[in-house]
Amino acid sequence: MSAASEGPTAAADLVRPAVTDSDPEASRRTGTEVTRATDAGASFRSAFASAPLAMAVVDRDGLVVTANDNFTALFGTAARPPAGQVAAELVDLTSDGRTWHAYREVLRGRRARLRCTRRVKHPDGHAMWVQVTVAPLHEGFQGVLLSVADISARRELQARLRHLQMHDPVTRLPNRTLFFERLTAALESEPEERGSTGRIGLCYLDLDGFKAINDTLGHRVGDRLLAAVAERLTRCADEAGFARAGAPLVARLGGDEFALLVEDSTGTEQLADLAESVLRALRAPFDLSGRRLSVTASVGVVERLAADTTATGLMQAADTTLYWAKADGKDRWTLFDPERNAHRMTRQALASTLRPGIERGEFRLEYQPLVGMADGRLRGVEALVRWDHPQFGILTPNRFIGLAEEDGAIVPLGRWVLATACRQARRWQLEHPAEEPLFVSVNVAVRQVWDSDLVADVDRVLAETGLAPELLQIELTESAVMGSAGRPLQVLQALSAMGVRIAIDDFGTGYSNLAYLSRLPVDVLKLDGSFVRGFQYEGEGAPPNPADEVVVEAMIQLAHRLGLTVTAECVETPAQAERLRRIGCDTGQGWLYSRPVAPDRISGLRARTTSYAVGKP
Ligand code: C2E
Ligand code: MG
Ligand code: MG
Repeated sequence: MSAASEGPTAAADLVRPAVTDSDPEASRRTGTEVTRATDAGASFRSAFASAPLAMAVVDRDGLVVTANDNFTALFGTAARPPAGQVAAELVDLTSDGRTWHAYREVLRGRRARLRCTRRVKHPDGHAMWVQVTVAPLHEGFQGVLLSVADISARRELQARLRHLQMHDPVTRLPNRTLFFERLTAALESEPEERGSTGRIGLCYLDLDGFKAINDTLGHRVGDRLLAAVAERLTRCADEAGFARAGAPLVARLGGDEFALLVEDSTGTEQLADLAESVLRALRAPFDLSGRRLSVTASVGVVERLAADTTATGLMQAADTTLYWAKADGKDRWTLFDPERNAHRMTRQALASTLRPGIERGEFRLEYQPLVGMADGRLRGVEALVRWDHPQFGILTPNRFIGLAEEDGAIVPLGRWVLATACRQARRWQLEHPAEEPLFVSVNVAVRQVWDSDLVADVDRVLAETGLAPELLQIELTESAVMGSAGRPLQVLQALSAMGVRIAIDDFGTGYSNLAYLSRLPVDVLKLDGSFVRGFQYEGEGAPPNPADEVVVEAMIQLAHRLGLTVTAECVETPAQAERLRRIGCDTGQGWLYSRPVAPDRISGLRARTTSYAVGKP
């Protein structure tokens, strides 16, 4: 290591004790003390020269007095050595106010130390990151010591690590972390600040059937496909950004999910164009080392005011919209629709309040008469559940039975329906001991057959209420009894053996055939309303469709021959009732007789029903 460019003279100067007349402390020093100081000066000098750090001594005016080799290597050239230069300019302490102030305070001895990181230029032109420390020279010496550590390598390593943390190795795209960082920053920035539109847009994309490719062709092919998809997406983004300030950010959010984030979007049209171009770009087959592969994608598109949304809100909307795109048939983009979303939210709200609603007793039953067609007499009633929802009002079963089946709440709900209906039927029987008792027909969902012990429930309820098994009818849909080997068949047989009647609800809408049903312990067919509706034009000018009548008549005859009785649903007009009676239908249910009503109105209807005995011979 050669001597600092200033030579030993300057180095000697710097360690010369600052003895002045105005320094009474110093003038009182003895000779020994001066020697000790000189020794200290010598060791300081050698430490200064051989330190691995770049160091310079700076005087109170901020000029470099002397510098060691390392400092000269970083900031000096032969033509322009550091000595005599303004130190603050060499290491850029002037560009920001706070640093500049702190530096001056250190120079004046009013502050102990300054440490900061700067990006500076090497005399050969390359940029470097340095850590700068400025501290007073130790007691008795003029000026401050400026030390500089070149931290470029560390910074570069940090940057590389950050890049690795923020990018996906398969596609080299920004990953989820970076995506959310950018999204959050975009949502937080003030629109006025950047003279922007204040809007934000997102295309959230998922490849259709990617899992199958991965499973059948292996992960390597899958990865190559993802990388190729990423390339095409990036091209789309670049083209979209061509005429604008910035291209959309393309990120891989995981698996086969990608996102294109449009900051400062101009409206849904811009996002629709982008989504369209993405689908177009993916449509061409991929050539992956000789293997041709075709994929399509589904895209959820959301575009809104940045101020109206959060990162989570935007992602949820995008997720829902992507789901719609898939559900609507894939290979398409779908725009977020607040109304469709509100519907989904209602479904969610209903699903989450089902079980507590059962516990709080928010459900009640209405009963709809089942009337003998031949004599118009009330034979029984069907129990139909209603939900008095505290928030959404009275809800019909079509709104919640499906949900209850999905999440299993149908089991406790069904148990409650069964018990309530049987108790009510028994009460009517006790209230009218002289009359023929009414039977009650209870709807049972498929899941109740599979997930609960329906036979035990029925057995217990009948025992508890004292209702005779013959006065209970269970309605199951075709799908519940279809292919009923195993459990459903055992359930049907056990119920039938107890004396409970089995009815097939909405018959004719499924795939079961009568011959098959007749082998099951089924007693009643409830003809779906759509058959009866086919009769509706009679008397209204349009001719009835004779084919409907022929089909229904044949069905009823066959059912009878197989030992089943037939109930027609949705009987709304006397004409329908008359024709049904003529072709042999046993029982009718519908608005003609009565809408579903509260239990206390059933007794009143009992007396009235004879008036419906249409066309009585
Ligand atoms: P479903 O068993 O076929 O019940 C008949 C449905 O048709 C009832 O609708 C009833 O109000 C309606 N209806 C009756 N007469 C007429 C008519 O003349 N014209 C028209 N257009 N409709 C008529 P609701 O009460 O909305 O019940 C719908 C479905 O919900 C029921 O169809 C049944 O499948 C299910 N459901 C009702 N209560 C329960 C229950 O407690 N448990 C289960 N698992 N499902 C139930
Ligand atoms: Mg029913
Ligand atoms: Mg029905």
